[in-house]
Amino acid sequence: MMAGGQQPIIVLKEGTKREKGKGAQSNNIMAARAISDAVKSTLGPKGMDKMLVDGMGDVVVTNDGATILKEIDVEHPSAKMIVEVAKSQDEECGDGTTSAVVLTGELLKYAGELLEQNIHPTVICGGYKLASQKAIETLDKLAINIKQGDKKTLRNIAMTSMASKSASAEKDILADVVVEAVTKVAEKVGKKTLVDLDNIQIQKKQGGGIQNTEIIDGIILDKERVHEGMPKNVKNAKIALINAALEVKKTEVDARIQIQDPTQLQAFLDEEEGMLKKMVAKIKKSGANVVICQKGIDDIAQHYLAKEGIFAVRRAKKSDMEKLSKATGAKVIANLDGLTNKDLGTAGQIEEQKIGEDKMTFITGCKNPKAVSILIRGTTEHVVDELERGLHDALSVVKVAIEDGKMTAGGGAAATAIAMALRDYAPTVGGREQMAIEAFANAIEIIPKTLSENAGLDPIDMMLEIRSAHKKGKKYAGINVIAGKVDDMFKHNVIEPLRVSRQEIEASSEAATMILRIDDIIASKGGGGAPAGGMPPGAMGGMPPGMM
Ligand code: ADP
Ligand code: MG
Repeated sequence: MMAGGQQPIIVLKEGTKREKGKGAQSNNIMAARAISDAVKSTLGPKGMDKMLVDGMGDVVVTNDGATILKEIDVEHPSAKMIVEVAKSQDEECGDGTTSAVVLTGELLKYAGELLEQNIHPTVICGGYKLASQKAIETLDKLAINIKQGDKKTLRNIAMTSMASKSASAEKDILADVVVEAVTKVAEKVGKKTLVDLDNIQIQKKQGGGIQNTEIIDGIILDKERVHEGMPKNVKNAKIALINAALEVKKTEVDARIQIQDPTQLQAFLDEEEGMLKKMVAKIKKSGANVVICQKGIDDIAQHYLAKEGIFAVRRAKKSDMEKLSKATGAKVIANLDGLTNKDLGTAGQIEEQKIGEDKMTFITGCKNPKAVSILIRGTTEHVVDELERGLHDALSVVKVAIEDGKMTAGGGAAATAIAMALRDYAPTVGGREQMAIEAFANAIEIIPKTLSENAGLDPIDMMLEIRSAHKKGKKYAGINVIAGKVDDMFKHNVIEPLRVSRQEIEASSEAATMILRIDDIIASKGGGGAPAGGMPPGAMGGMPPGMM
């Protein structure tokens, strides 16, 4: 770049890496596909788990696409965009993350082939846009209404989402818990039904089997009462939520108290005790019989609280304080002086129970009946954690199903129907865009193909079988991974909320077209850029070798 034949103008800083045109595109496509390949083998009920080891040596065993991508440390910029796909899918629906990522990778793979045939990226993007619109139209037509209060269907939707989690053995119990919890917190707002999953608290406790997982009408604190002398159980609880220490304030500056004779020492201690006693008196006066304190409680204060028959818990989590406030109607107060009867919340009962090796506090019969908790039990920490991820997916899909009232068939049934519709649609568009629409059709078949592959079935045979079933008008034919053949997915209760499949298509086609439009990568030094010569070895930084 010469300006008037003089000095070259340096626009980019030294050390900036730049890659343009086809090199940039193929680089981006390769990085994105590496991510999609990394999670592919986890798709579906027969998918494998991954063991992730972080820098500290902590281990996570999971099958959850979003979790895998959250844990691994991705460096390549376009690979990072794929991780975003999983994130947005997780935020919108809580499920379908692996599918969305795998689909993005496949859309890019076929786009790469078209690029090699000198089809311009703009044409590919145009075709993909048309294809995704048609795909969503097709999905909407395939969708079936969920009748209000149809718990059996909701249960099957929960089961389908948990099919691929290690929780699958005890899906029955968990599905019941999930449906009960979500229907309990569902609210009618005008004509709509809305579910706020924040109303469902999840507590984990290791020990006991998955079958001991239960739903509680109220809130659970992973805390025990601070003093043995306190009642274990308080009926008609009047709850004070206090965000202040029930301790005598230590002075800010390092003060020294000069005590010259023993009576002075006694007087000093008496004064401290008096102050704590006053605090307890204030609580007693408000009418509270339960104190949940976000900070510490001094031993002497504990003693006086116990004497007054008040149940107290200390160092409660902020998030639990908020949940308690919502559930019991109590106001969190920061200053004891202002505490009145009006600030107290109510609950039918508060009780300390022994769960496994530990003691927990159960607050039930809350003022707000929409507060429910799920207590997850499992033999080990890893089991409990993976159960929680499974529950997260199941809660999300049941929420979405209740809110939208629409479902589609899983097991690759919807994907196959979409591929068929796109192949019919492509010639009507014509031109080079037709090729992109056909590429989209091929790409979306990755779902039944991968489900088959992961179940140890021959993907070629299965694809021939599933296509022929759809040609015969069997709209809901999908891969029955258990029986190893093509079956009606509705009959086998493999069903998913419409929103999950919809979001998979929207998120993946948006990400794929966004990546395709890039033909210039300018990465500043250390920006994890795109060095020439294909996929850098560090493109998937934190992943230990041999993990994929
Ligand atoms: P994702 O992160 O995309 O949800 P999963 O590992 O949960 O990935 O797998 C979801 C896929 O598994 C969906 O396509 C779903 O329809 C399919 N699936 C779930 N249960 C079955 C089943 N019993 N038979 C066939 N496919 C199933
Ligand atoms: Mg899933």
